[in-house]
Amino acid sequence: MEVFTSIQSLRIYLKQQRNLGKSIGLVPTMGALHQGHLALLNQANTENEISVCSVFVNPTQFNNPEDLAKYPRTFEADRALLEGANCSAVFAPSAEEMYSESPALTFNFGSLETVMEGASRPGHFNGVGIVVSKLFNIVQPDRAYFGQKDIQQVAVIKRLVTDLSFQLELVICPTVRDASGLAKSSRNQRLTKTELTIAPHIYRILSEAKEKMLNGSDVQDVKNEATLAFSQIPEFALDYFEVNDLNTLLPITAIKTDKTNTICVAVFLGAVRLIDNIIF
Ligand code: AMP
Repeated sequence: MEVFTSIQSLRIYLKQQRNLGKSIGLVPTMGALHQGHLALLNQANTENEISVCSVFVNPTQFNNPEDLAKYPRTFEADRALLEGANCSAVFAPSAEEMYSESPALTFNFGSLETVMEGASRPGHFNGVGIVVSKLFNIVQPDRAYFGQKDIQQVAVIKRLVTDLSFQLELVICPTVRDASGLAKSSRNQRLTKTELTIAPHIYRILSEAKEKMLNGSDVQDVKNEATLAFSQIPEFALDYFEVNDLNTLLPITAIKTDKTNTICVAVFLGAVRLIDNIIF
């Protein structure tokens, strides 16, 4: 496995690989890797001859300096996991390498900026748009792999690829969960032992809400019940619980029959903000 910290050295390596006719799959991550990331990498390895995993805690997508400072950084463990998972190349640049100047460009993703993560984390998707565009330009992958876990990020990146005509295929992978149902997340590392026993209630409440709606319950009633369920567990502070159209991510008042409904949740568990979603 090759490890690159400079853009130029990665470009030289990738040019050689491309000249040999090899296809390239990119897995962008912020490190603190877990089975969710490795599922993306495995998919990339299955579909491409070369896999590139970027490990970069992108400062421009954090609107909360404390969240950025506390984001887990575990590069040596990440490197060992990637090596064991047959990753071809790791790209782990410093912030200075990625941003020799702070970017002047700003993205606006329209209504995606005003709901859920866009509303709760102003500027977040601008930062995502910038870093993902830079990674696409640096790596020029044939395919890029993203997790359904970050459902709004997927919608933003789809828009980015369409609007800027990036020549690549987006591959969206299902959310990997613990046996308890808890979605794997780098932020889970920051949960206490007690919080780790409480966190699985997120997916339980999501799953129950889904079942109720599929059984004909009114969407607003289900939202109210879910909000109540979160409030009854004192360690939780709910940010949002939304029932949306999968394509627009705008709220809906009645579910559709074509499996394009989604429930999205963001909740603080102690100091840690967790997100999850279900498509049904
Ligand atoms: P992150 O390091 O959190 O920025 O995530 C890097 C990529 O891994 C993103 O495309 C995420 O959506 C994806 N990812 C994170 N957690 C999971 C998970 N539990 N299952 C599948 N993909 C995930």
